[in-house]
Amino acid sequence: MQKDSPSTLKKALKKSHNIAIVTHWSPDGDAIGSSLALYHYLLKLEKSVKVIVPNAYPDFLHWMPGNKQVINFQDNEKKAEKALNSADLIFTLDFNSYKRLEKLGDILEKATAPKVLIDHHQQPDDYPAYYFHDVAASSTCELVFDFIAALGDKALIDKKIAACIYTGIMTDTGSFRYPSVTAHTHYIVSELLKTGMVHSDIHGEVYDSYSLNRLKLLGFALNEKLKLVEGYPVAYFTLNEKELNQFNYQKGDIEGLVNYPFSIKGIKVCALFNESDGYVKISFRSKGKYDVNTFARTYFNGGGHINAAGGKSTESLEKTEARFVELVKKFF
Ligand code: 5GP
Ligand code: MN
Repeated sequence: MQKDSPSTLKKALKKSHNIAIVTHWSPDGDAIGSSLALYHYLLKLEKSVKVIVPNAYPDFLHWMPGNKQVINFQDNEKKAEKALNSADLIFTLDFNSYKRLEKLGDILEKATAPKVLIDHHQQPDDYPAYYFHDVAASSTCELVFDFIAALGDKALIDKKIAACIYTGIMTDTGSFRYPSVTAHTHYIVSELLKTGMVHSDIHGEVYDSYSLNRLKLLGFALNEKLKLVEGYPVAYFTLNEKELNQFNYQKGDIEGLVNYPFSIKGIKVCALFNESDGYVKISFRSKGKYDVNTFARTYFNGGGHINAAGGKSTESLEKTEARFVELVKKFF
């Protein structure tokens, strides 16, 4: 855990007026939830605030308050660059290395404003001027709640901010199932519910919003593409571009798919390999002591958490799969 004191953070905020918030490549519920929660909070402090993402995020997050104000670097490079270069303070949320932003990371690295990191991933780089980092936190959204509370502003958390925070906690904990959930997580949710936020509506927006194609792709993957590594507690899927296109693949359509094999008795490590933007995107999930962060860092140019990590491969899908199976036998 590495956290600057509330008074240090308060001073940094007080000195700044133009604030930028950035999050990681392929933003998920926690990335967008934490960014927009902080955005609405900083607006209440009468700051000028810009939220910037490196690329698009799934439709099931577009209902979130503030969505329309988010600047997508891929759609508007100039506007994103200007927001970063004119900021006097930059929050970096739900990631801890410039590498996680692809091309936007180079611009962020050159931006001169001091950076505040709010994050729960392992092994943060040393770029931030200020830290609010805790790997034990269930989500960055949990830390954004704690950050606002640490500054003495819990009373400013309204229904909108609560909805953003709830979304990230819900999506990063598999709807409150993972071991990362603590009494403190539930305390936060209890505080969020007091604002009038309707948790069942949020669940509906995020999880009951599949297209028919998305549900059929899930069925196809489970029926035709799931493989087990014999003799090891490991299951995985591969999906090539053609297979994805058959189901009119949209961003977010395979979110959550990687977890399904856990319902098979004895499976402790799951992986999903899919062709995306000219490389193979990899998701790893595990249970207990099986460390996919180290596995992804060591062999697949990635990282994340012990039980949830990502990576990539520039080899073909077939070669990547073969390499994975060999490494599984060495590592797990
Ligand atoms: P996902 O499989 O959902 O894309 O990612 C799982 C976790 O690993 C997330 O917490 C995400 O931030 C992290 N992650 C995903 N891809 C990468 C990567 O390429 N590098 C690192 N360091 N972390 C990643
Ligand atoms: Mn997260």
